Amino acid sequence: MTKKIVIGKEEWCELPELGLPAIKARIDSGAKTSSLHAFNIHPFEDAGKKYVHFDIHPIQNNRRTVQSCRGLVVDQRDVKSSSGDKERRHVIKTPIIMGDEAWEIEVTLTNRDSMGYRMLIGREAMKERVLIDPDSSFCLGAMAESSAQEYYKEAPSKKDGLKIALLASNPNLYSNKRIIEAGEEHGHEMRFINIRHCYMNISALDPEVYYRGGELLENVDAVIPRIKPSMTFYGCAVTRQFQSTGAYCLNDSVSIARSRDKLRSLQLLSNHTIPMPTTGFANSPVDTKNLIKMVGGAPLVIKLLEGTQGKGVVLAETNKAAESVINAFKSLQANILVQEFIKEAQGKDIRCFVINGKVVGSIQREAAAGDFRANLHLGGTATSVRITPQERKIAINAAKAMGLKVAGVDIIRSKDGPKVLEINSSPGLEGIEDVTGKDVASLMIDCIEQGIKKRKSAALAN
Ligand code: ADP
Repeated sequence: MTKKIVIGKEEWCELPELGLPAIKARIDSGAKTSSLHAFNIHPFEDAGKKYVHFDIHPIQNNRRTVQSCRGLVVDQRDVKSSSGDKERRHVIKTPIIMGDEAWEIEVTLTNRDSMGYRMLIGREAMKERVLIDPDSSFCLGAMAESSAQEYYKEAPSKKDGLKIALLASNPNLYSNKRIIEAGEEHGHEMRFINIRHCYMNISALDPEVYYRGGELLENVDAVIPRIKPSMTFYGCAVTRQFQSTGAYCLNDSVSIARSRDKLRSLQLLSNHTIPMPTTGFANSPVDTKNLIKMVGGAPLVIKLLEGTQGKGVVLAETNKAAESVINAFKSLQANILVQEFIKEAQGKDIRCFVINGKVVGSIQREAAAGDFRANLHLGGTATSVRITPQERKIAINAAKAMGLKVAGVDIIRSKDGPKVLEINSSPGLEGIEDVTGKDVASLMIDCIEQGIKKRKSAALAN
């Protein structure tokens, strides 16, 4: 009979064949299967056998350290996550070492983070091997994360690393943290710059940007503007100033300002014959009835021109309700548009994340029960979706029409085909990275690297 080792609810273990000498795992006998938190998962075949290549951040709360692994695929399995979603996962077989014991286990690869642990060991992997003492931790030996770090190399910093400024308001947002991490992983010098703390010297010869305390922000190679709606005016001015200093801006100020005005965006899309729901706009209250008729009558959607995250979007079920809401908004001097309601979408829309003319990932968002707005900020949920070639083309063309290198294009599926709802110049990364498992932040950094390279070769050619 095999000797059983006693382990606690969390332990350090080793997965030698994956090149992971130290990984902290959560032991969970409530879960059947074991899982590794992996990303950039790519299956491939070699000599008739199925393998998978994937990346992992082996240290908890650290995305700077990346290990690339390759594992033998023994199965594909549908696994239900804690949120109840079904997910198809690759299953790999690999040896594990815990304490002085070693045996083979099956592990599923998932991009879902299980409470921050990079690995979860379920009961199947522990059968006849271990006894769990759920009240203890690290029965096989404790180790600080910093010591585990010594087993891995940090991404080397590039000699020709760029100086990149992330121009935003909140350094603690998931998207902002990820962009900084991704830039550092690429070996660049990343700096968070708070828009509010910038001030400028506007002159024809030597435009400059200063930062709080009087620091001159010089030699910034690239800027990633992530401007929140309430900061659009000033944020665009600072972005424009950086552009004048010669910095490469991932999205330029004109395109950002365009995308912030729903009417202006729709007019631009219409110029490029990109499909959208029938939309009306008027200023004087006498036209309200005609406006309602123009979009086919109730039910219809009324939107504040500068609303975001679904907050200024209202559904009017009857013509009477529509008339009251429109007139109420008008009396508040609010700029609105009126739009046909795409009922058949059933509270779902598709967010396509476009970078540099390519859709790098897409998710379907579904409104919370009782709502028709699919925004994740309003409690909507995100799942993976396969988009059609037509939807892909529409998303790419919409981003191009707006002049955005990075854009979140929202598409709604109507009975007449896909239609663009809106285009976001600072699309969030959390939902898309979580659902697709793609390192979207890193793709944004790739886009900067390519853009600067292209600009340099164009300058040399002239
Ligand atoms: P915001 O910029 O505030 O997110 P959107 O125009 O994207 O505003 O609308 C928010 C959500 O409301 C969309 O994601 C979609 O789910 C729903 N929605 C918007 N317009 C329509 C419409 N015309 N028909 C059906 N649903 C809509």
